Amino acid sequence: MTRSRLETVAARLLQSCRCALEAGLNLLLPYPCLACETLAQASDRRLGLCPDCRLGLRLTARPGCRGCGRPTARFARPDPLCGSCRASPPPYDRLVAAFEYRPPLSTVVLGLKTSRLEYLADDLAAALLARDHDRLAQCDVVTPIPLAPLRLFRRGFNQAESLTRVLSEQLDRDWRRLLSRRPRPKQALQSRARRIELQRGAFRCRQALQGERVLLVDDVVTTGSTVRAATECLLAAGAKSVVVAAAARTPSWDE
Ligand SMILES: [Zn+2]
Ligand SMILES: [Zn+2]
Repeated sequence: MTRSRLETVAARLLQSCRCALEAGLNLLLPYPCLACETLAQASDRRLGLCPDCRLGLRLTARPGCRGCGRPTARFARPDPLCGSCRASPPPYDRLVAAFEYRPPLSTVVLGLKTSRLEYLADDLAAALLARDHDRLAQCDVVTPIPLAPLRLFRRGFNQAESLTRVLSEQLDRDWRRLLSRRPRPKQALQSRARRIELQRGAFRCRQALQGERVLLVDDVVTTGSTVRAATECLLAAGAKSVVVAAAARTPSWDE
């Protein structure tokens, strides 16, 4: 085992102990709401938010565009596409996102991502299943969007993978790490068009697929370029179809 691998394993073990201790304490003690820090009852800590902050959560529109989740006409066909998704159709069958990515939900995602509050993955997965259980259940295998190796090493934790594990358990399907990342330049300063171009070929499929229907999981979908590129990679490797599940999507995809 290489030294970096050993360090990762040690960090994960330490993290598991911390999480178990935290989970124990959380059952007994009032907890500070992730968004406003008011102390809330331990028995009612869904999504780490107090009841008042939970009222501020925004579910995604329904019916929504199957490509990006934007609101569509009330009497639209069952699987509508908005104008911009019609101009550039998504390679996946549908995006299922539970929430709009704005406060207080953004603090929940941050709590999972940076503070590794694993119980939030349970609550976010439950919200996704409540949103469209039947659609999510139409899969043979569940897989996360991977982090770049260096980022995974630094963080020691992939939040999309914790969501994947919970969904796989709840849906009674296997989960596998089907994708890996190729190294690529930093995205922050690139235009949207350039980011989309760079995403093409950003993924590698680790194994050939045999016509499986894949549920591809990410924490937040922003421009959609990442899930598009990952889907194209899975389809090229032999997947029959892909549905994307995300805890949240940004309200506008044009930023
Ligand atoms: Zn609060
Ligand atoms: Zn759309």
